[in-house]
Amino acid sequence: MTVRSFGERSFKRSPLIGPGVGVSNYEVRFRDAELARVHNSDYRVRCHRSRGDSGQGEAERTNSAISDALVDGATLEWEKYRRFEDLSEEEIKQLSLQSYEEYEKKRMEKNAWYVCSQVAERIDDAPVLKDYIKSKVSESPDELFFFNSVYLDNYRGASERNKEQAPGAAYFRKIESFMEDHYIRGELFMEFCRDACKESREESSNLCSWCSNNRWVGPETERIPQPVPDSNNPGHFMDIYQTESTGRTPDDYLPRKCIKDLYEEHSDSIRNDQDTMKSFCSKYNVEEKHVIAYVNHLKDIEIRKDIRTRAAQERRRQEAERTYKDFQWDNLIEGGKVQKLRVRELDLYLNKHGLTTVGRKLDKVKAIRCHYYRQNKETVITEELSSDEDDVEFEDEESESGEAESDDDYVFVDLDEQPEIGTSSTIQFVSDEQIFTVVVQGP
Ligand SMILES: [Zn+2]
Repeated sequence: MTVRSFGERSFKRSPLIGPGVGVSNYEVRFRDAELARVHNSDYRVRCHRSRGDSGQGEAERTNSAISDALVDGATLEWEKYRRFEDLSEEEIKQLSLQSYEEYEKKRMEKNAWYVCSQVAERIDDAPVLKDYIKSKVSESPDELFFFNSVYLDNYRGASERNKEQAPGAAYFRKIESFMEDHYIRGELFMEFCRDACKESREESSNLCSWCSNNRWVGPETERIPQPVPDSNNPGHFMDIYQTESTGRTPDDYLPRKCIKDLYEEHSDSIRNDQDTMKSFCSKYNVEEKHVIAYVNHLKDIEIRKDIRTRAAQERRRQEAERTYKDFQWDNLIEGGKVQKLRVRELDLYLNKHGLTTVGRKLDKVKAIRCHYYRQNKETVITEELSSDEDDVEFEDEESESGEAESDDDYVFVDLDEQPEIGTSSTIQFVSDEQIFTVVVQGP
């Protein structure tokens, strides 16, 4: 495959909405690095809105526009593809139970995709904030360009020792080192620049193989320095061309990050320390009331954390004091919950009944179950039989009601009510280049 040389310079603005859009998300960073290589980018930056500042409430207003577009009183047809409509009499007669079930599964999936496309069509071009929403259906998982999410997850979750063995490890490590060499990341941004490896690799100051083989497409550029407050012109930032770019660290003038550092040093006493407060406010170009509000917020978090720690300690203390009598062993063992107990708790049972406490946890669980069922043999057999019958009846009821539902057209009433259309379709707000882009996630 030949990849055309874009030399792309891109700016992406993502408001922090929903999971998976933030630079704190590993896969977002990883994919961005892959795209930088595929697009042969000169420069890329991804910025987020500040937390708690959603401008004119973009997310809320977009969501409400989506519900207006969706709930227009018309029905959504669920059974677009009716059962057996694409089979001949002969073919229907030859269906085995297994092939019938496979056929039904495929038909359900086709119907779910059809509903998704209808939903996407309704939302597309809906007006919001003087603009129009773009809406599309997500691609089917087998057709996604980035197909290796599962492997990436495995690699990321593996311990240092097992990472080498994870499928795709060599590739993932290569991209990871590409990220380390070319990206810087702050709380709310990530920035890529070609040739940045030169600075990151202090010792050799050679370009990485990618940069030496892929030279600038546009004019050479460097990182854009983050704004620095102008001490000669309070309330303003320095001109971008006068802003120092060397020797900077990410977020070095980001007030929120600096307040956090200040808080770690002085705790909440900073609120009464007028001198430190004044010099901080002038250095970072923020008003005192905002600093105090954020310090209060940090204090709040700390208090809540303390409460949780105390509660956890108390719970552990109580757990440690429990004796054999504090457990309802019959419920735990018959309900299959005995394996969730701690080893110390399992030992309570074993000691009480004079069983050995030597062995691994699973052995102990097994020993307890054997002992218990041997003691209560007769009662258990009758109980198990009757519970089996219950299960069978329950399954029948379920499948009947399921079929009855799927014959009806589905009417959207309220976005808050989860549609039960036999699929887990969700509407995901994806805000990348286009802020009002909605992707209707397929089944
Ligand atoms: Zn490089």
